[in-house]
Amino acid sequence: MNNQQKQQQQLEMYKAQQAQLQLEYNKKLENSTGIYCKNSECGSPYFDQVTILRKLSGSMDGSIQDEVVEIQTFICAICGEPIEELNPLSRLPK
Ligand SMILES: [Zn+2]
Repeated sequence: MNNQQKQQQQLEMYKAQQAQLQLEYNKKLENSTGIYCKNSECGSPYFDQVTILRKLSGSMDGSIQDEVVEIQTFICAICGEPIEELNPLSRLPK
């Protein structure tokens, strides 16, 4: 098999994998249920991804530096209410 045939074969395999992933994704969506804003006056299905920043203090002698950790979570795009079950702040110290 020459290089061009190999490339063609790889491309066909890639396309088949992508089609399979698309099918699995569609099946997942069919079995999914909606997540809606819990604010009773809102109920929006739209969310924005936002970032929570947490500081890990380093050591007093400076041998370990302060570190900032990023946590991605979601808030309602309409009213700003966090999705409580996904909100890590409810499980973390102030
Ligand atoms: Zn909302």
